[in-house]
Amino acid sequence: MMNIKNKKVIVVGAGFGGIAAALRLKAKKYDVTLVEKHKDLGGRARVFKKNGFTFDAGPTVITAPYLINELFELFNKNPNDYINITPLKTWYRFLFEDGTNFDYSGNESLMKNQIEKINKQDVKGYLDLVNFTKKIFNKGYIELADVSFDKPFSMIKHLPALLSLKSYKSVYSLVSSYIKNEKLRRILSMHPLLVGGNPFTTTSIYGLILYLEKKWGIHYSMGGTGQIVEGLEKLMIEENIKIIKGKEVNSFIIDNKKINKIRLSDGNEIYTDNVVCNADPPAIYDNLKTKGGLLFSLKRKRMEYSMGLFVYYFGTKKTYKNIEHHTIKFGNKYKEHLEDIFKHKKLNADISYYLHRATATDKSMAPTGHECFYVLVPVPNNLSKINWSMEGEKMKDLIIDKMENDLLPELKKNIVEDFYLTPDYFEKELNTKYGSGFSIQPKFSQSAYFRFHNKSEICDNLYFVGAGTHPGAGIPGVLSSAKVLDKIL
Ligand SMILES: Cc1cc2nc3c(=O)[nH]c(=O)nc-3n(C[C@H](O)[C@H](O)[C@H](O)COP(=O)(O)OP(=O)(O)OC[C@H]3O[C@@H](n4cnc5c(N)ncnc54)[C@H](O)[C@@H]3O)c2cc1C
Repeated sequence: MMNIKNKKVIVVGAGFGGIAAALRLKAKKYDVTLVEKHKDLGGRARVFKKNGFTFDAGPTVITAPYLINELFELFNKNPNDYINITPLKTWYRFLFEDGTNFDYSGNESLMKNQIEKINKQDVKGYLDLVNFTKKIFNKGYIELADVSFDKPFSMIKHLPALLSLKSYKSVYSLVSSYIKNEKLRRILSMHPLLVGGNPFTTTSIYGLILYLEKKWGIHYSMGGTGQIVEGLEKLMIEENIKIIKGKEVNSFIIDNKKINKIRLSDGNEIYTDNVVCNADPPAIYDNLKTKGGLLFSLKRKRMEYSMGLFVYYFGTKKTYKNIEHHTIKFGNKYKEHLEDIFKHKKLNADISYYLHRATATDKSMAPTGHECFYVLVPVPNNLSKINWSMEGEKMKDLIIDKMENDLLPELKKNIVEDFYLTPDYFEKELNTKYGSGFSIQPKFSQSAYFRFHNKSEICDNLYFVGAGTHPGAGIPGVLSSAKVLDKIL
């Protein structure tokens, strides 16, 4: 076995994938240095603190918490000494334009009652659908989430099983084969949106998220998701991982397909044996001097990117006690709206949105008597050429009007703190290609072997973790990508 003691690894980027990779490699006795462009860690899961409000920038829905706990357990540490993750009773409240609402949870009798009220015939379809997603989950998640798909055969041998699980269908089409009612179809097929995909084009393998939620529940991290990042940073410091903050990795010095050094934004160079990139793979490959062969450049060219995100963070002096922790509001048109975002790349006023009310579970996120929210609206990525410095304010006003009308009365006059992020933030600050919210889309043609490989296709000692590589976006996805790395490095 290769002697890895003291071999140097540089991890570029401190999102959840990079942090997990740093910890897993440290546990294997690599000499690990983590380099992050920003002065704080977390990437999409950074935290913005403003006048007593704590705004988690990104992930708020915590699933498969065992993947987070494992990182502490690698070093025989008790996760409860670092983080406090608590299950939620209602997972999502869905709202429709006609006022219909649906409280989605792990309580199956409440689920059946509500389905029955909307369409009695769909109760059996729902149970059958859950059973089918369990099969997808067992294959796609339990068996394949932490497998390295670096060789064609690694994909070919699983194709018969994937085809029998109908992975050629979209999530929406799979759900529709069990469910007749359009509202229920939307509710049960929305999961790809959580990882950057259009339910109408995302491979039905991602139907496994429906079952993954049922298996381990939906959780919230007390103090916000940022507390998990903080707990993991404490662990990294205790385990002597070197953390360089506020420096960008500007280039790799490559000799004969091997990276020898990385060059930082301050001009310093660091020697390394291996590089693990948590930064967006397509953006990294764009800047790499070594280009790879024809097949690889065709692969890069054919990639389709996830949607962009407009995220409006706001604190109110009025309390809104009836609002659930997670609310998803569907606009009138759904398929057409998603086509505008993903295909036509244009804005549309008939928005759907996700509203996060952290203070529903955790009063510490806002000053006493206040509420802490963010609302996320899927929008086209920057291939759209939308000028966000012109459109940002208009989008903000549209969303406030919608929310005031739908569920937060007198909102406008009660906002005391606010700011927003557009795809420009994702492109310029987080270095993602086209400002996509979740890197490349989770389509079948961009999954597993067809995604950017965990072991680079073109450099011998370059590896990837995070949303753009296998298995994909979302905290469970990027934490699993670090488990793939564990097997190959
Ligand atoms: C608004 C929003 C809400 C979300 N909600 C959820 C949710 O509820 N649940 C869930 O599971 N997932 C959610 N997700 C998805 C999830 O947050 C991401 O998929 C995941 O956090 C991405 O992690 P990552 O490891 O890919 O790294 P990222 O978070 O993308 O971090 C990459 C890091 O690399 C750094 N970097 C880039 N280039 C360089 C360089 N050259 N040098 C140094 N550093 C560099 C960046 O600054 C960044 O810190 C959400 C995402 C967003 C944006």
